[in-house]
Amino acid sequence: MVEDHIIIIGAGHGGVQAAASLREEGYAGALTLISADPELPYHKPPLSKAFLKSVDAEPQILKAMAFYEGQGIDLRLGVTATGIDPAARTVALDGGGSLSWTRLLLATGARPRRLDIPGNALDGVFYLRDCADARALRTGTATAGDIVVIGGGFIGLEVAATMALAGKRVTVIEAADRLLGRAVSAEVSSHMQAYHESLGIRLLTRTTVRAIEGADGRAASVVTEAGETIPADAVLVGIGAEPDTRLAEAAGIDCEDGICVDASCRTSADGIFAIGDCVSFPHGASGRRLRLESVQNATDQARCAAKAMLGQDADFDAVAWFWSDQGERKLQMAGLGFDIDREVVSGDRDAGAFAVFLFSGERLVALETVNRPGEHMLGRRMLAAGFSPTDAQIAEGPAALKAALAAFG
Ligand code: NAP
Repeated sequence: MVEDHIIIIGAGHGGVQAAASLREEGYAGALTLISADPELPYHKPPLSKAFLKSVDAEPQILKAMAFYEGQGIDLRLGVTATGIDPAARTVALDGGGSLSWTRLLLATGARPRRLDIPGNALDGVFYLRDCADARALRTGTATAGDIVVIGGGFIGLEVAATMALAGKRVTVIEAADRLLGRAVSAEVSSHMQAYHESLGIRLLTRTTVRAIEGADGRAASVVTEAGETIPADAVLVGIGAEPDTRLAEAAGIDCEDGICVDASCRTSADGIFAIGDCVSFPHGASGRRLRLESVQNATDQARCAAKAMLGQDADFDAVAWFWSDQGERKLQMAGLGFDIDREVVSGDRDAGAFAVFLFSGERLVALETVNRPGEHMLGRRMLAAGFSPTDAQIAEGPAALKAALAAFG
């Protein structure tokens, strides 16, 4: 009989959670977690905020080494899986050698989309995804006065706020007509725009970049399509992420904007599962196939995949939620804003603490909050229960909403 061996490729939030969940669910066989990153697996969200603020900050680890040792998880750091063979059930490793598996989990994540313009390889041009990127950005901006951020999404705005609060002159260049255009409603977008401007950040929307110009191999300025030259001692590019499907595609596994999985995180190859930023999955509530890039999605799918790999019933239908801390604004989103035809705002926009309830017809489909963490949690519970509040209940405030949700059952 072949000895059980589950291999997980990728030790981000999803891969580490999957290893932990497999043990929690009673899996007692061999378990290997392969990570190309040499660091002990760490939290990614602080990399664009707290980690940048202090030269001494270390990454916040997800689990201590004692956890992996105690749980019998063979953590291989700084090791890259270079190929998978679904028929032979093997993974090839860099430096030669291969490992056999009985089930395989791909948690390969996403990679920053690269900006293909002249000057993109100059020193002083940064991307931000992993700890090595964050260290390079921190060092490269330590003495910078002028920073240009290309992309007004999560990465760009979190870093822009961090840098502006540290006294840097920051310009954000966004291609779309508003910030966070794909992630939040126009209401929250315009609030965040005003907030970033209040920090002294210059925001250019409907603007793209023609080139990064340098002197002595280092970035010195950014030239917009409109022809403006903006001084830049450092440039951060945050223009989105692409799913890392390289191993899956080379192995002939179905991929389309991500590795295609079913509701139990199974790929098209027998015994191979996939989770997190790298997968496209069927989203029950909207009836669409989606790819989500978030800690919650990766860890909830990890719990689902662990069960499915052990032959238990598991269908992924968690309420999606996200957060983004930008300076003093805590932005939180629950649910997904598809087919929105009505928005109801409660709270105090001027004071920077409010909620936007997003409806499709009579149905609440998403809730966005700014500095209202309690209402965000309530929103997640409302969405999970399928409860849609009336305008009157929203107007009465969180206590009334809580009571209405309890009465709903
Ligand atoms: P993002 O949130 O998708 O934002 C990228 C932004 O850049 C979009 O608004 C995009 O506009 C714009 N853009 C694209 N091409 C551009 C160009 N050539 N010039 C100017 N703007 C351009 O992606 P991100 O900020 O790079 O973050 C990458 C990933 O990191 C995220 O998807 C997320 O998974 C993760 N992340 C998450 C959080 C969080 O949840 N708090 C925080 C940081 C990072 P269009 O939409 O019009 O293309």
